[in-house]
Amino acid sequence: MAGLQCLRRLWLLVHEPPPYDDPPPGSVVAMGQEIGRKAHLLFPGGVLVDEEPWQHAEAAARTAALMADGRVPAIFEAAFEYDGIRIRVDVIERLGRGAWGLREVKSSAGLKDHYIDDIALQAFVLRGAGVSVASIELVHVNTAYVRGADGICWSELFARLDLGEAVADALVTLPDRLPAMRDCLASATAPVAEPGGQCSAPYECEFWDQCTVDKPADWIIHLPYLSQARASELKALGIEAISAIPAEFPLTWNSATLSSRWRRRCAPVSATTISGLSPTAWRRQGRSCSWPPAVLRVPRKPLSSGPHSSPTASAIRWPWSRRTGRWPSWRGKRMVERSAEGGMVGPFWVVEDGGKSSVIALAVPLERADTYGDMLTVDTGHLEHRSRLARRGAPALRADGLPTAPVWSEYEEWPRGRVLYDGSSQRFVIRADRQLHRLGFVHLIATRFYIEGSGATILPDDHYRSIRRVPLPCRD
Ligand code: SF4
Repeated sequence: MAGLQCLRRLWLLVHEPPPYDDPPPGSVVAMGQEIGRKAHLLFPGGVLVDEEPWQHAEAAARTAALMADGRVPAIFEAAFEYDGIRIRVDVIERLGRGAWGLREVKSSAGLKDHYIDDIALQAFVLRGAGVSVASIELVHVNTAYVRGADGICWSELFARLDLGEAVADALVTLPDRLPAMRDCLASATAPVAEPGGQCSAPYECEFWDQCTVDKPADWIIHLPYLSQARASELKALGIEAISAIPAEFPLTWNSATLSSRWRRRCAPVSATTISGLSPTAWRRQGRSCSWPPAVLRVPRKPLSSGPHSSPTASAIRWPWSRRTGRWPSWRGKRMVERSAEGGMVGPFWVVEDGGKSSVIALAVPLERADTYGDMLTVDTGHLEHRSRLARRGAPALRADGLPTAPVWSEYEEWPRGRVLYDGSSQRFVIRADRQLHRLGFVHLIATRFYIEGSGATILPDDHYRSIRRVPLPCRD
């Protein structure tokens, strides 16, 4: 998979592998491993091949022995090798008459595009190794499942998705992509690659710091709303720093504003002065978004009201917001009349931190929200955002003044909800766990999202159920 993402990453992983660390508890990797273990419950009687990754020959021999034993219904972490490619398969399930099912377990809520390449490579090796693969399924988390009072029912938490056709399509082109990887690995030096979008998708690259060590602090990759075409033009001009972009270079309003501020060394958009993190360090911690931390970090106090009052939307002056009176058609989404100058939308939790309630949120300005019919919201789900936070680890969260609950608790334990904007009624909507339907909580959430609590509608949502209680905040 590394080779499909970036040949340089493949070469570095093989020839200069980073030291292996056990994933920290609560991290995405650790959660994925736990989900993988729990998925074994779907295959009663299955046997785990527990040889370590570096014991591949032993693991392959044990896999072969288990496959020959008709009493074994499934094999976990089965090992195979074909054409110089070694794989471990999450689950192979015995289907009868010599046929097997390939089962890939993911801790996500459903299929993602890059899973297909991953699974296709496994199918390629399995078939090359002489295994009759009759069915291919993704085993993923069932987001419709609601945890009961007795705890998690793991067998109901999973859903299975047939990927036979999608993988068959991918297998047509996959073999053509392998020779370039072999040539790369045979090279004595790492291939040159320009860091870009491939560095965080589909996986975050562990060599980011190494590849970007020479980039300026105001590298143009941190400039929001910069299209790929404009980035290419800047690259052709030899311009890598935002502050070096000529004033006359055509940019969007937002990009031009930020660019001019960088040129003037204007503090509000300085990633290093506000966050204390360099852009590189920031991206290492939460790189799923392409915005630098200073842009993401919204002011905690209203700019034109007292320190304890709830900010009104119109009091906020977003450095990147338009003042045209209309929504931008960001990413081609349709224009919607706007009724407020600010406010944010996104998923949130209320957690207890230091004896009082605190909001953890992915709060996104309306200009960057995703459109669903008349509603504006954010694609990112609670599980995904919680995973990102957990991956940063407790020290980093504490350093940013955030509760550490995402690291040590599960995403559905705390009361949660989502703030949306209803374009038809021109009101914010807070869909939340019923525990949060009290004035103190509404005020707390509204403050975090820079909306007026009185201008928001709060609604229940049966998906948002929690097992923890949080203290009712005192209103000033
Ligand atoms: S940081 Fe980016 S360019 Fe460098 S190896 Fe990783 S994916 Fe490739």
